[in-house]
Amino acid sequence: MIELQHITQEYDTADGKDKFFACKDVNVSIKPGEIFGIIGRSGAGKSTLVRCINLLNRPTSGTVIVDGKDLTKMSDEELRKERRQIGMIFQHFNLLSSRTVFDNVALPLELAGVSKADIRKKVEPLLELVGLTEHANKYPSQLSGGQKQRVGIARALSSDPKILLSDEATSALDPETTQATLQLLKKINQELGLTIVMITHEMDVVKQICHRVVVMNKGQVIEEGSVLDVFRDP
Ligand code: ADP
Ligand code: ADP
Repeated sequence: MIELQHITQEYDTADGKDKFFACKDVNVSIKPGEIFGIIGRSGAGKSTLVRCINLLNRPTSGTVIVDGKDLTKMSDEELRKERRQIGMIFQHFNLLSSRTVFDNVALPLELAGVSKADIRKKVEPLLELVGLTEHANKYPSQLSGGQKQRVGIARALSSDPKILLSDEATSALDPETTQATLQLLKKINQELGLTIVMITHEMDVVKQICHRVVVMNKGQVIEEGSVLDVFRDP
């Protein structure tokens, strides 16, 4: 489903005098229907790698294959289409404060030129799925953290993606809300069949819902396997 091959990302150091590798020759293969975890310390290169999957980040070198198609070879136009297959959620939700819950979820559809009637048909069941129907007309500032993340999830699902990328989606949430959010992600994986790639630094999160994981350190994958293998007590 997702093949990251020899992904290398070079950046200039802060003083601009040197270069360093945020990712160095990383190879990762993610199967359809998997909940795949990427763990590691801050600065390990997790975000950089995950942002290569939708080319939010264009790697310095390497190949990104999604559903058999090489995204790194695509024109901007083709890439725009492929990106609709890949939803993303974020630690700080990235909602627009001037838009209601409904209008935040509707935004990707509006940008894609979907009609008002079709937007309504799409957004209402999504709000139902994430449990926000009664909050449709509220603004983000009127919501709790868990509710904001559920808006983010509904928005990410609005273009019927096959893949959901999650960058520390539960890191800003309290333990109880984290649980509710994980249950929702599990449901999305099981009932909608989405492949989920999630970055986290929370081991409990990984143990609970990931099928396989990689551990990153200093831009490289240092361990890979099933959750049981990676977390087996020595
Ligand atoms: P993680 O997600 O594991 O915390 P990141 O992928 O965000 O790690 O970052 C890896 C390294 O690359 C860090 O040292 C970070 O400061 C650096 N980095 C990330 N994005 C950029 C950028 N756009 N320009 C320069 N350095 C960057
Ligand atoms: P908060 O940040 O307000 O704690 P939560 O995400 O914990 O938000 O959810 C608040 C309530 O909504 C909880 O009782 C939770 O069980 C419920 N809830 C969470 N997700 C869903 C969902 N997908 N559908 C219906 N109810 C949900």
